[in-house]
Amino acid sequence: MAILDEILEANRGYVGGFGERGKLPLPPGRKFAILTCMDARLDPAKYAGLSEGDAHVIRNAGGRASDDAIRSLVISHKLLGTATWFVIHHTNCGMELFSDGVIADLLEDDLGTAEFDGERWTNPHHRGGHCAGHFIKWHTIANQEASVVQDVRRIREHPLAPRNIPIYGFIYDVKTGRLNEVAAATSAGRVV
Ligand SMILES: [Zn+2]
Repeated sequence: MAILDEILEANRGYVGGFGERGKLPLPPGRKFAILTCMDARLDPAKYAGLSEGDAHVIRNAGGRASDDAIRSLVISHKLLGTATWFVIHHTNCGMELFSDGVIADLLEDDLGTAEFDGERWTNPHHRGGHCAGHFIKWHTIANQEASVVQDVRRIREHPLAPRNIPIYGFIYDVKTGRLNEVAAATSAGRVV
């Protein structure tokens, strides 16, 4: 229960200093949205200078333009007014470390957390998992720059994504904290 207590204690402190944030409007004040990875080393509020109420941040494994990420982006613009979108992947992403077949085989063998030795994933236990993983598209990443371009292009070409929203593509460097623009992605995401 330690982590639960830690979170509740932190929240009590946050509530104590909440101030005027309760009066923030629902639409993001700075009118932009970021699609990025769930990686614990990435803090979009810090790397992009966000405060509560500023922007939408959509996160998933890899920061990929999945159907659900696009659902959120469409809502973000259509109902809440964002007018600029960013796709931000990052160096050393866990999504580069496996393939659809690898995770499906691991899950079929055991549902517990697998171990990675720098080259291969293995299960410490073999208690029986489920074959459902073979029927999921995991959106793994083989090449970071290519994945950013793919995702920007997919969003740009989606029939529900307005053509007048610029989409910028970046790779965040986990070693330096720097956002490096992927020129080919930003080019693919330009207003058309
Ligand atoms: Zn990642």
